[in-house]
Amino acid sequence: MECVLGIDIGGTSIKAGLFSVEGKLLATETIPTGKLEGEAAFGEVTTGLLRLVTSEGREASDVRAVGLDVPGPVDDQGRIGMLANITLDADGLKDAILRTFPGAALAFINDANAAALGELWQGSAKDVSSFVMVTLGTGVGGGVVCGGRLVSGAFGAGGEIGHITVREGEERVCGCGRRGCLEQYASAKGIVYLYRKECEDRGVEGVAVAHETDTLAVFKACRAGDEAAAAAIDTMVDRLGYALAQISCVVDPECFLIGGGVAGGFDLFGEKLQDAFRGHCLKPSAGAEIRACSLGNEAGMYGAAYSALQVAQEA
Ligand SMILES: [Zn+2]
Repeated sequence: MECVLGIDIGGTSIKAGLFSVEGKLLATETIPTGKLEGEAAFGEVTTGLLRLVTSEGREASDVRAVGLDVPGPVDDQGRIGMLANITLDADGLKDAILRTFPGAALAFINDANAAALGELWQGSAKDVSSFVMVTLGTGVGGGVVCGGRLVSGAFGAGGEIGHITVREGEERVCGCGRRGCLEQYASAKGIVYLYRKECEDRGVEGVAVAHETDTLAVFKACRAGDEAAAAAIDTMVDRLGYALAQISCVVDPECFLIGGGVAGGFDLFGEKLQDAFRGHCLKPSAGAEIRACSLGNEAGMYGAAYSALQVAQEA
């Protein structure tokens, strides 16, 4: 029976999902990896993948497509740009996988884009064909889908929502080298920064924040009535709503999906974000709905599988 593999490539392991071609997740497997280069490392990956496929009564020849998502830029042609946090010989891995699953189509995709495609296939965006996903995690990433197709861009930077400038005059420098990027306010790090700044400006101690991305502590404080936390979240929501309004002027999506670890506070800020967006956007776009993602950290696996399946279907 035909099946599809979706593979999430991380720094220390890969997480693989086996899917039916209709998009049902049948089984998953985590394969520990070191650097993904050389035949020994590739062998461990393909052995693990084969184990996953056969565990559900399928054979190597049943695998129609294999999608791999990577934490870095991948352009419209599937070419991988610089990967900052992992070592990956993409061509070598591709050859090894195709030797194991000779009939399969293979595709690489950026991880944020994969998550967006996953939500389109089986998640919160199943009922729409154009949407923008915003992933609020350690950084801020995103994925743009128009008419059911991903827009990854000529240079692979399509959907780099975190680096939309939302504030002039910021003194801190963003990871990209510019100033005033959305990521500086709406990432986990950004929210903790805003909270500490609010406490400082108000001359209050504030709650204990365990580390510089501990948004849970800030959300918890807000729920308990901490005014500095509420103010920090209001600022974050306003900057994010502002950025979504700018995006609407270009792609005018049916909805926005909010994902990533920070989306754990969506019940707290979702409605305010919808209001902030409506306050900033161009009138015709005001109907765009803001929703939480539904596939969690499996979205990338889903999207990688779906992206490879699309390649197989076009071949
Ligand atoms: Zn930036």
